[in-house]
Amino acid sequence: MHQTSKRAALSNPDTGFPPRLSQAFTHNTALSALEEAASFGRWWFDCETSQMVLSALAASYLNVETLCHDRLDGCFISVVLDDLLPLISQLSSKPLQSGGFEFRVISPLDGLRWLRMTHMPADPDNPGLLSGILVDITPIKHAMMRERLGFELTEFLVGSHSLGDAITNVIQLICRNLGWDWGAYWAMEQSPQGASRLVCKHFWHRPELDLGSLGMESVTSSLAPGEGLVGSVWESGQPDWVEDMANDLRFSQRTNDRECRLWSGYVFPVTYVSADGHQHNPGVLEFYSCLSRQPEAQLPKLSATIGALIAQMAKRLDQQATILYLAQVDGLTGLVNRSHFYELLTQACTASEKANTSFGLVFIDLDRFKPINDAFGHEAGNVVLHEFARRLRALAPAGASVGRLGGDEFALLLPGQSQEDIATLVEQVLQAARLPFAYEGVELTVSASVGVSTFPQGGKTCPALLQSADAAMYRIKNNGRNGCHFFSLSSPNALALHRSSIAQRLALETELHHALQGDELFLAYQPIFNIRNQTLEAVEALVRWKRPDGTLVPPDVFIPIAEQSHLIVQLGKWVVSQACRDLAILRAANFQTLKIHVNMAASEFTSSTLPDELCAQVAAYDLDPSSLTLELTEGMLMKSPDQVIPVMRALRRLGFGISLDDFGMGHSSLALLKNLPISSLKIDRSFVSDLTQQRNDRAIVKTIIDLGCQMDLEVIAEGVEAAPQLAILQQSGCILIQGYLIDRPLAIAELLAKYPAERQPHELHAN
Ligand code: C2E
Ligand code: CA
Ligand code: CA
Repeated sequence: MHQTSKRAALSNPDTGFPPRLSQAFTHNTALSALEEAASFGRWWFDCETSQMVLSALAASYLNVETLCHDRLDGCFISVVLDDLLPLISQLSSKPLQSGGFEFRVISPLDGLRWLRMTHMPADPDNPGLLSGILVDITPIKHAMMRERLGFELTEFLVGSHSLGDAITNVIQLICRNLGWDWGAYWAMEQSPQGASRLVCKHFWHRPELDLGSLGMESVTSSLAPGEGLVGSVWESGQPDWVEDMANDLRFSQRTNDRECRLWSGYVFPVTYVSADGHQHNPGVLEFYSCLSRQPEAQLPKLSATIGALIAQMAKRLDQQATILYLAQVDGLTGLVNRSHFYELLTQACTASEKANTSFGLVFIDLDRFKPINDAFGHEAGNVVLHEFARRLRALAPAGASVGRLGGDEFALLLPGQSQEDIATLVEQVLQAARLPFAYEGVELTVSASVGVSTFPQGGKTCPALLQSADAAMYRIKNNGRNGCHFFSLSSPNALALHRSSIAQRLALETELHHALQGDELFLAYQPIFNIRNQTLEAVEALVRWKRPDGTLVPPDVFIPIAEQSHLIVQLGKWVVSQACRDLAILRAANFQTLKIHVNMAASEFTSSTLPDELCAQVAAYDLDPSSLTLELTEGMLMKSPDQVIPVMRALRRLGFGISLDDFGMGHSSLALLKNLPISSLKIDRSFVSDLTQQRNDRAIVKTIIDLGCQMDLEVIAEGVEAAPQLAILQQSGCILIQGYLIDRPLAIAELLAKYPAERQPHELHAN
């Protein structure tokens, strides 16, 4: 009876409505216009009878048609199940949560909407009657969601998320906020055969729904553009609704959709326009619901935001790919850079180990590159490097990697090439290095030193292979450059020796650099004595390095190190300048005709500016060029005669003396002597030391002396240590003698003290 009267009351508020709610209802109609304008609905709830009265707007928010409800479940029929119980318990418990209670309502027309129910202060006269307002907070929630999406994007951008995690989070967020049960991202990818396919990369579904098999099916299948709903959305670039998935042919391939009772869905493209104005369509997002949902008005706008967000992530991925590319490529030459080359080499080691195959590693170091950089500037150096890289790339066979390891060092990784193939290629590389490089009308020339090592003979790891190729390359560097050496393990400690020598070399190079800045170098002068006149004809300046701790570093040790780096240029200039200064002192001490011999390094003699520089240096001390004799060895000459001989000619024309040092040591050719612009030659001490035992050497020395005389060359015998040697040399007609028998190299003060100027011959005999 009670029930019936209540029902009647609800259906007819004017008659049987309980007085408290009837009042509310009257209020309600009067205020409805205001409510509409202010966008809030009102509600009244009788705690004793559990009756609820809604304003018209509140009813429309709750997606119900009647305003008066005698049971809460009838009034909350559209409330999302998860939120229903907490909502009811909110109303029946007192006091109500302050700030209101939020819950979700789902409708086929509007999709998921968020409402907030707040209550008014209780009326003291009617403590059992609750009232309050109902606000649709969906726009606020969407704004929050967009913010949250932005946050996800930031997380991804700063790297605390992978793209997969970020997209999965975004999908989950959208599902939870917009009431979808399933969401997935399909990315357009290029298959190895070159065909474009849409591939499901990430998906999420409400955990309580059994959608695992749909997930499996989605990630293992792919769609062509135009195929299925996803494919057609990608192709058209337009969002699309599906209202009844079970009867939509575009789902024919995804049979599980039906089994898992997904009903409706919204699919939209992810697009962005890059800075160059190009439109990119990296993929498609799909969202499905188990409910039958109608197209929702707010979705297209939201999906544009979401699409742009995912697109930003995709764009970021593209950028990462570009960054990755930049991180692997050498900026100047476009070749693979050092670190990436090492990676490739490591990968090649692993792959070859597994497949039991071999590959070659070719190490290329340009010779005489530093002088080009020094003389013509970095731009010229860059032109050489860039052009050499181009030539290397052109020569490299398919499948090879071409890298620049830094400076003037290059490397080739050659899988699947035989020893013969590699040897042929290396020959071509050497030729390519020797071809001139054009820079501002000048032809620059370099050559290359090449070391080859092969997997696994030369090593089974990246560092081991690099070291053996480097060791092979240094064999060439030390053997006159411009050639190739294949690493072999024939000498078992070849690597260990090489390794320690490299470390030592580097340490000494650094030390020498400091020595040159500081005051650690000085010159010693070894007399070159004229035994016929008994006069001091000349002195040879020999550089000395005294470390701060007092130890002496022999020039045989540090000169080669200086030669391998740019330091020799600096060192050579210092020696000439110091020698000139000392000669000026000697001149002042009345050594009027004394000459100074200075040893030159190969790289100094290839510089066409040497004559001018030397002129300036002698002029600075008011000396004549004829007071300076430059010593160079045959080896230096033979290495690049086309460059050295013109410099020698120029120097001779200017009046400088040139002495061929260590004559007889190398592949001496007497024929060559005839055409050389030299003023003297120095018989190597190895001939002199054996003069008393070896008849052959006596004959050779005699021939050299005779030849020298015929060609009007001064002949100096060096390394004379004993009187019998001197006697033989004297018999053979040699006049100029240098060696410990006469004197050791002396400091300038010692020289001045021992050899008073213009001494008489007899005085010297007494010495
Ligand atoms: P070098 O030009 O053949 O110099 C002669 C070397 O023989 C000097 O050794 C000298 O001390 C040594 N010597 C002189 N008389 C005798 C002797 O009777 N018996 C023996 N056993 N040795 C004798 P040092 O000073 O150690 O120089 C070695 C090499 O270092 C020189 O050989 C030269 O090639 C190079 N060098 C020295 N100073 C310079 C320099 O200023 N510039 C350059 N580029 N090289 C230099
Ligand atoms: Ca010398
Ligand atoms: Ca010598």
